[in-house]
Amino acid sequence: MKEALLQYAWQHKLFYAGNLATIKGKRVEVIDPGQINRDAGPDFFNAKIKIGETVWAGNVEVHINSSDWKDHHHTNDSAYNNIILHVIAKHDADIFRISGEEIEQLLLPCYEDLESRHEALMGQKSFVSCAEHLDKVPRILLSDWKNALLTERLELKVNDIETLLQNTQNNWEEAFYITLARNFGTGINSIPFELLAKSLPQIYLAKHKDNLTQIEAMLFGQSGLLNQSPASDYTDKLKQEYSFLKAKYQLQPIDAHLWKLLRLRPQNFPHVRIAQFATLTNKSSKLFSKVVNAKSIEEMESLFECSTSEYWQSHYTFNKAADSKNKAIGKSTIKILLINTAAPFLFAYGRYKNDERMQEKALTLLEQVTPEQNSIIKNWKQYNIAATSAFDSQALIHLKKHYCDCKKCLQCRIGHYVLKHDS
Ligand code: SF4
Repeated sequence: MKEALLQYAWQHKLFYAGNLATIKGKRVEVIDPGQINRDAGPDFFNAKIKIGETVWAGNVEVHINSSDWKDHHHTNDSAYNNIILHVIAKHDADIFRISGEEIEQLLLPCYEDLESRHEALMGQKSFVSCAEHLDKVPRILLSDWKNALLTERLELKVNDIETLLQNTQNNWEEAFYITLARNFGTGINSIPFELLAKSLPQIYLAKHKDNLTQIEAMLFGQSGLLNQSPASDYTDKLKQEYSFLKAKYQLQPIDAHLWKLLRLRPQNFPHVRIAQFATLTNKSSKLFSKVVNAKSIEEMESLFECSTSEYWQSHYTFNKAADSKNKAIGKSTIKILLINTAAPFLFAYGRYKNDERMQEKALTLLEQVTPEQNSIIKNWKQYNIAATSAFDSQALIHLKKHYCDCKKCLQCRIGHYVLKHDS
């Protein structure tokens, strides 16, 4: 048996509790197994256990072998002085506190099919290892679990936003601008887009917000792509503007080689995305404040609507002209911006302001946006786990990436249901 499974059995009381006794023969009653600790220190805090006639409150340590206590150097570690019980799968040594006092040990009688169920679960090679059990999982359990997963996902995004805020002197507009740029990169060009925004503080764009050519000059100049462009009336003008603005603001462009075009559809080429980002910047300043004040999803969507300047209607790169085509940003891209930028920022701002209505607004937004249609969501659907909104799809993406792919079934409520059921 693996230690993580033994811990899990202890945490969820998946053991025969009828005739528990310590190695030395004292009766044991588990009143409360304690709270699991995933950081350094004892495995469970604040457990309550009756040993013999005495009720003890303290910490519990779980190991496969008794001798692991000594091997892990707990004997002389004061962090383990408050251990009231050592839970083990094999007894091969007596163990002691710093004071020399012996610590009680319990050989845990786990349900006999727990290990085989766990092995069967972990051994599956399907999209998710619990695939064959999914149709038996109660919908109410799934629904509650999705709520918890979405909160976890938003918490991770809030952490990223807080890091950005630390680096921007708590400037919410600047942090929003950087995150928005990152999401304009739609995955493959996220990093260069983020680097581009970080190399070009929003305040410089705001100073030229009424001049689209200067905004394009700064963005294309800082992207490094302008430097590689052939001569034309348009590029010459941009280069001229950029040269002046670069010196004025002492800008350093990023490396053009960071941008990727391979396997991208032309309308997603970074040049087109940067041109759209330029018109969005030209169209609206203080975008974050507008998102905070938007009264409806339609108003929110309209904030992100943008197209390109005339030149980019007939170009996908600087190299050669193509047939003229409207390059307005698509509904699917706006959806990505709402899910990955607007909602997390509303949630983070609500937390910062201690404003529950703002956090509620973030969740409502996710409930109103249609789900993403990527391979993860399509695969869940095969097992009748459908996403009806971005709220669901974000939760399911989080589950797949942060639990299933990491084999964290013991920390997953579906895994818990599968292991506990009939055990
Ligand atoms: S983490 Fe949960 S949903 Fe994913 S494979 Fe394990 S039990 Fe299934």
